[in-house]
Amino acid sequence: MTEKMKILNHLQSREDEMVELLETFVNIDSPSTDKASVDRFARLVAAKWQSLGADVTILPQKEYGDHVRAEWGTGEETILLLCHMDTVWNVGETAKRPFRVENGKAYGPGVYDMKAGIVQAIFAVKTLIDLGLQPDKRIVALHNSDEEIGSLSSRQIIEDEARRASAVLVLEPSAKGGALKTWRKGVGDFSVTIQGRAAHAGSDYEKGISAINEAAHQILYLHGITDLAEGTTVNVGVIQGGTRTNVVAEACTLGVDLRVKTMDAANKVVPQILDLKPVDPRASISVEGGLNRPPMERNERNLRLFRLAQKVGREMGIDLDEAGTGGGSDGNFTSALGIPTLDGLGAVGDDAHAPTEYILISSMPERAALLAGLMLEI
Ligand SMILES: [Zn+2]
Repeated sequence: MTEKMKILNHLQSREDEMVELLETFVNIDSPSTDKASVDRFARLVAAKWQSLGADVTILPQKEYGDHVRAEWGTGEETILLLCHMDTVWNVGETAKRPFRVENGKAYGPGVYDMKAGIVQAIFAVKTLIDLGLQPDKRIVALHNSDEEIGSLSSRQIIEDEARRASAVLVLEPSAKGGALKTWRKGVGDFSVTIQGRAAHAGSDYEKGISAINEAAHQILYLHGITDLAEGTTVNVGVIQGGTRTNVVAEACTLGVDLRVKTMDAANKVVPQILDLKPVDPRASISVEGGLNRPPMERNERNLRLFRLAQKVGREMGIDLDEAGTGGGSDGNFTSALGIPTLDGLGAVGDDAHAPTEYILISSMPERAALLAGLMLEI
């Protein structure tokens, strides 16, 4: 039997153990916004890695949950695994909707995004240890607590770690049908404040400068920047303005989301948004914000890693497609630094961030085997 098939068989015989650990993980609430909860989950993740003999460090955080760094193996170079421990579900959600299994699918808060991914990473390394297979690179698994809210406290740690790595493997959920993600759009976030002048809408209409009228022009302009063929979208998702129907609106603010596929597109569009000019010269506009996550571009570095994963998959009888998404992850940061990054290596399932979220249980050993095999090949 080939080495790769040995890995797959070994993991398939441990599917029940994987599901058991997944149940434990899912039934602990870990919203990004509740430090005590994420910290509790982090201790458990740390203990799991420790039980494998990994060198584990807890990276304490003041405001957000603590991050967990686990290092295993030896070698000059590093392979960085990225997992986030936080979910979008509030405290109490797991009591309402605990982990359950039905028709080969596992359900529960954060099961797909991305607690199954953490289980798979742990079992991938455990399998290499069990089978006496040693990658020639060190493995560093970084688990952050704040990915769902923009990785504010972990970005620097992720980037520092990535600079030392020869490849980054992201255990975020797969795309439809298990496809791996070779690109993600970059994400920009802007707040546009429009200042006009208030006046009585009946007696002093002409004295007023309507911030809402000005906002209407700006919204059409902003949405007009969208270029679907280029993969660029601008969405004004929030409007706040005005006070009374009989008052000319003095102020209006717009919340704007930008998505771009390439840095070239970002460099073109971000200044356009920052330099909004009022149509009514008496009004004034100020814009705050910028690109939060740079795009993870579909470049040759990332594609090479994808082709390597495809090759490992073929050796295990697993077909792997390539996909991309408009949503960002921590892979955006590492790819933008020029480090080969492959995303979507986590669970196969669907409905992230929705109560119907699930994973396919039979895919867990396969995905863990793919990860283990990939770590040996990189
Ligand atoms: Zn995620």
